[in-house]
Amino acid sequence: MDGILFTQQLLDWYDANRRDLPWRRAPEPYAVWVSEIMAQQTQMDRVVGYFERWMERFPDIHALARAHEEDVLKLWEGLGYYSRARNMLKAASVLAVDHDGVFPSDPAAIRSLPGVGEYTAGAIASIAFGLPEPAVDANVLRVFARVLDLDQPVRSGETRAVVAETVRSLMPDDRAGDFTQALMELGALVCSKNPRCGDCPVSGQCAALSADTVSRRPVLPVPGKTTRINMATGVLVHEGRVLIQKRLPDDVWPGLWEFPGGGIEQGETPEQTVAREYMEEVELAVEPVEDITTLTYAYTRYRVTMHCFLCRFADGSGEPVFNEAVTGGFVPPQDLSGYAFPSGHRRLIQFMKADSRFADLFSDS
Ligand code: SF4
Repeated sequence: MDGILFTQQLLDWYDANRRDLPWRRAPEPYAVWVSEIMAQQTQMDRVVGYFERWMERFPDIHALARAHEEDVLKLWEGLGYYSRARNMLKAASVLAVDHDGVFPSDPAAIRSLPGVGEYTAGAIASIAFGLPEPAVDANVLRVFARVLDLDQPVRSGETRAVVAETVRSLMPDDRAGDFTQALMELGALVCSKNPRCGDCPVSGQCAALSADTVSRRPVLPVPGKTTRINMATGVLVHEGRVLIQKRLPDDVWPGLWEFPGGGIEQGETPEQTVAREYMEEVELAVEPVEDITTLTYAYTRYRVTMHCFLCRFADGSGEPVFNEAVTGGFVPPQDLSGYAFPSGHRRLIQFMKADSRFADLFSDS
């Protein structure tokens, strides 16, 4: 590979093809940090709306450091992997207290922040501070597994080290940030899962293209087994309000809100699960009175089927005791949009809002 030519061709292509993303207009450290954390596991185009809402609400480190976790999670709702948002809140406190609200330029100091790993530190150091620090994520690994025609597993430490060293050697002193973003852009737009080699600015430098091994690069791990989970949940309605609870800090999705429910045990019907879970979680006797819908969704290696029911009190009324939640209570259905829910429960709310059977429940009057 001709390194100088590779860098020149990549940057020329980037100058002509870069997407106009809001954090690129003024790449200051806070904005770069927010965008990079949001873009992990999420496509850039989808990040834009979240980024703009975030910057309007928390325009700088001090504003974020003062924020309530509840508000942060609500703004994050739908991006998933909520520990990223919680870590940003923790990092903002560190930055406000230890760095007077000014983002440090030292890569080691950036790396020491909660939730900031090797990749994010490299991205911030190069994009915001122009330092020749490599930022190697899955996109960049894929590009170089092909450009270098690497036949070792792409997620191995050895591959990561080879790619990081290659990126470092190619980075131009005067355009480190553009080089980082150009690689990300190439991986997202051209050298993607289904590469468009005919449109590639560095095709002349690509060893996999020459060796006709593009379809075998990168070398991916054998996919792990998925686990199927059957769950049931109930929306308890009483006097025009619905019961929700806030999940425990050590639970999956800590701090998010939900309707009580849980896994269907052997021999149970979904309706029996809802009644049992309500008794265990909030000490209320409820009966499912209407089948709302059945939703399927995936998170990490799990494939979830969630049976959803409308519930009433079996005995007419009752006071919840929150055994498996931080807090909870009955809220007007119109207010549910002010709480952050995991994706399955958020989809349930959206489904109910769109279903004429529940029009009265969600009407303002
Ligand atoms: S030629 Fe194809 S495989 Fe090689 S870097 Fe370009 S898009 Fe990727």
